[in-house]
Formats: sequence, C-alpha cells, structure tokens
Amino acid sequence: MSAPAPVDDPQRIAVVGGGMAGMLAALLLARDGHEVTVFERDDTDLPATADEAFDGWNRRGAPHARQSHALLARLRRTLHERAPDVLAMLAEQGATELTIERILPPEMDDRTPRDGDDELVIWCCRRLTIEWVLRTVVTAEPGVTWRRGVAVDGFVADGTDVRGLRLDDGSEFTADLVVVGGGRNSPVMDWIAALGGDVQPTEEQSEAGIVYLSRFYRLREGRDLPVLTEKGAGGDLGYLAFAGFYGDNGTFSITLGIPTGDRELMTLRDTDAWEAVVRTLTPLGPWTEDGLADPITDVEAMARLTNRIRRFVIDGTPVATGVVVIGDAAITTNPWYGKGCSQAGIAAEALSTALREHGRDRTAVALAMDAAMRRDIEPHYVSSCIQDADRTKLHVADRAGTEPDPAASAGRDFILHGLLPATRTDPDVFRKFFRSFNMLDRPDALFADPVVLQQAGAALAAKDDRPPLPRLGPTRDELLALATTASGR
Ligand SMILES: Cc1cc2nc3c(=O)[nH]c(=O)nc-3n(C[C@H](O)[C@H](O)[C@H](O)COP(=O)(O)OP(=O)(O)OC[C@H]3O[C@@H](n4cnc5c(N)ncnc54)[C@H](O)[C@@H]3O)c2cc1C
Repeated sequence: MSAPAPVDDPQRIAVVGGGMAGMLAALLLARDGHEVTVFERDDTDLPATADEAFDGWNRRGAPHARQSHALLARLRRTLHERAPDVLAMLAEQGATELTIERILPPEMDDRTPRDGDDELVIWCCRRLTIEWVLRTVVTAEPGVTWRRGVAVDGFVADGTDVRGLRLDDGSEFTADLVVVGGGRNSPVMDWIAALGGDVQPTEEQSEAGIVYLSRFYRLREGRDLPVLTEKGAGGDLGYLAFAGFYGDNGTFSITLGIPTGDRELMTLRDTDAWEAVVRTLTPLGPWTEDGLADPITDVEAMARLTNRIRRFVIDGTPVATGVVVIGDAAITTNPWYGKGCSQAGIAAEALSTALREHGRDRTAVALAMDAAMRRDIEPHYVSSCIQDADRTKLHVADRAGTEPDPAASAGRDFILHGLLPATRTDPDVFRKFFRSFNMLDRPDALFADPVVLQQAGAALAAKDDRPPLPRLGPTRDELLALATTASGR
C-alpha cells in the first residue's frame, strides 16, 4: 500500500510524550504533512545502538521499557502500511520476525498457505529496541521537531477549547491540535478538569490481577533459540502464568505473571529462586537449557497493572476540543495480552484519518476519535477485563479451596479443552484465533465464527478421548519449596 497523499491544510500539532503512542502519532501525522512538535520529559541522549539503549538508556518516563514486549500483528500492519522503513530498521537491528509458517503449531499437518497469511506476522524485540528505532526515525523526520527535557504542565485554553500547552519552564506553545500521549501516569484528567467544563471525562478501572516479573538473557556464541516447539513457549499453572519472549540481537526474556497479592511468590524476584523455578516449567525447557544463554538483567518486577478506559466524549459532547488523548493515557489493558503498542498504533492511524476527514473542525475530530476508539480498541479492552475477572475469580476460589464460579470455570474449560486443542489441529481455527489475539479482528468475531464454534465444540466433546493435558510445572507448594531452598531464605 502506498503512503497517503499529504493533506491540503496542514496543522501545527503538539504531542505530549515521546513514548510509543506519541512517536507513532508524530510519525504518521508528519508524513501526512502536518508540522509536529513532540515534548518529551526525559532528557537523555539517543544511545548509539539498540544494544546500548538496553544497557544504559535512562527511560525514567517509561519504567516498563525493560519489561518483555511483543509487537502484535496489528501494530505490524500499521508499520507495514504507514512506516515500512521502521520495520526495515527493526530487521536491521536484529529483531525477530515470526511469520505464520514459523508460528503454526509443529504438529499441524496442513501447512498450505492461505489468503491473508501475509498479515499474520509478529515482531519480537526488546521494547527499548523498537523505541530506539522509532526515536531514530521520528527525530530524523523532516516534519517533526523533538523537544526533550521539557515537561508539559497543562493546557492553554479558551474555556474548553484547547489552544496549546503550558510547559514546565513557564513558557507556552500554541498549536492547532494537542495530542496527549503521556502514558499511564499522565495527569491528563487533571488538566481537563482544570478547564472547568460542564462535562467531565469518565474513567473505569479494574486490576489486571497480575504482577510482572521478567528476566532477560543473551544467547551464547553459536547458539540459537528454538523455533516454537509442540509445547509452545508459555502456559498457565493457575497460580502463575509464564512465557518466553523472543528478542533481538540474540536476546530473549522470560516473564512470570504472578497473582497480585501473592506475596510468597514474590520470592521469585531472587535470581537463584528464579533460575531454579524457570527450569521446572516444561514448555520453557528449550529456553532454559544449560549452556544456552546468560542472564543480562536481574529479575525486574512491575506491579499496579490495570485495565483502564477513559472517555472524552460524554453523551455525544466532547469534554474539550482541540485535544485528543491516545495510548496508555486513554486506554490500558493487561500487558499479558500484548495489546498496548497496537492500541497506540490504532489511535495514531485513527487520528491521521480524522484529520484528513475533518480538518480543522475540532468537534468533528473529537467525535471521530471517540468513535474509532469505541469501535477499534474498546472491544479489546472489554475482552481483557473479562479474561482478567474470570482468571482472578478462579484463582481466589483455588486459594480458598471453594467452588469456582461456574461461568468462569466453563469459560476456562472451553478455552483449554476446546478452543486451544482446535487451534493446534485446524489451520483455519488457528488463523482465526491468531487474528483475534493479534487485534486484526475484533475479539467477538472469534466466538461468533461457526467454524471455530463447531471445531472447538467438537474438541471439547472429545476431551475425555484425549490423554490428560501434560503437567506444565510444579504445584504451588512444590514451587515455593524449591524457591525457598534456592534463595536460601
Ligand atoms: C509490564 C508491561 C509489559 C507490556 N508488554 C507489552 C507487549 O508485549 N506488547 C505491547 O504492545 N504492549 C505492551 N505493554 C504496553 C505498552 O508498553 C504501552 O501500551 C505503551 O508503552 C504505551 O505507550 P504510551 O506512549 O502511551 O506511553 P509510554 O510508552 O509510557 O510513554 C509515555 C511518554 O510520555 C512522557 N511523558 C509523560 N508525561 C509527560 C509530560 N507531562 N510532559 C512530557 N512528556 C511526558 C514519558 O516520559 C514517556 O516517554 C506493556 C506494558 C507493561 C507495563
């Protein structure tokens, strides 16, 4: 697909935050012909290489930047269509491209390519590598001015019509449009409240229910990571979820998702406990083999993970005009599902389209952005909330030794014994699952698909004809005993 033609009436656009959302928006809008200025609070030089970025780049403003990330096919589509040079540079920087041929379960007999397979591609790299690549491209983009070490303090506005930014050095910056991409800790709700409008934004929030623990490794000379094996590269023990993430430049990471509040499992922050435990997780066997790799970080923890949605159009009325909120400042989902950067990409695309269609009609732009968020992002947010609520209910019942919630339990059975087995034998079900998980389709499309329902139903009905699912790892008590011994505590 060729890049869209420049807009007839370019606007002066101020972007708050140079994280994933801010950079994606800046890139797409500058390529549309707008004049974009990005204000990024972190005052750090761009490291010389992606490797140096991982080792020493101070990204205080994005503390999750040293946690495992995977780039879903939806973000890859945005980049492929709107910024293929970013993908080319990612490849140059050693990122891993997982195409459908590499991802199809090894036991799948029918490996014939299908229409649409070219979209089914995931990119894997360290988060700081994609961030380094994007920063390199965006700061070199002719239409972008990058102002680093400048924090935004609020809006300059005429009532609820935003006309620019107030900066922490006391100065003001006027703009035709303000784009807020300041991440999940952005004070944007306070900034909007300070405008004093009659209509205020709303916010809904629920806990993702997990704490992230991640450790990164570098492969030893001459060693390679296995392509996906029959056992996959992750699993869920009920009391702990785990996954291996391919990286770039011979790196990879392992992440454990621990239920919020399970303090005993936090022993796994100890590197000796961690190493002992990850070796017991059977799908990760090829990732933890002796002599394969050496750790390059400690075990990094990240808590306070939420599903959160903020709405800026209430009953058809924008809370403010001249401003749009994108990325984590607008919507966060449980990172376990890997959607955040794709959500940022969707919002950047939607904004590019809204400005093409509505130009300087500020109310129309606000309404178009709201409609796009509700249509293209909110269903994934809802799906994330439902999955987290069900998993938390099951976990709580398991710990308390009480009867599990019947609906959550039936849902888990359907996924574990119906849908997932069907994805491993039916190439079309696999592709539909992949499309939904990767945000190429809405999540409800999967469960409305007759082929998926039929195949998953058949797999569920045949559950007892198959050998029981293999044990993926130790029980919680076994794991804790091992961790305690290994950590010497
Ligand atoms: C543990 C974890 C794992 C994740 N894994 C994945 C994954 O596998 N795949 C995926 O797609 N997503 C993942 N995500 C989500 C993804 O990281 C976020 O969705 C994404 O970073 C959001 O981008 P953003 O630009 O909105 O915010 P950020 O990337 O957080 O960037 C915000 C930027 O704004 C700057 N800033 C903030 N306030 C101001 C201000 N007042 N003035 C100027 N600058 C300011 C900050 O310095 C920062 O640079 C994960 C998230 C977490 C927490």
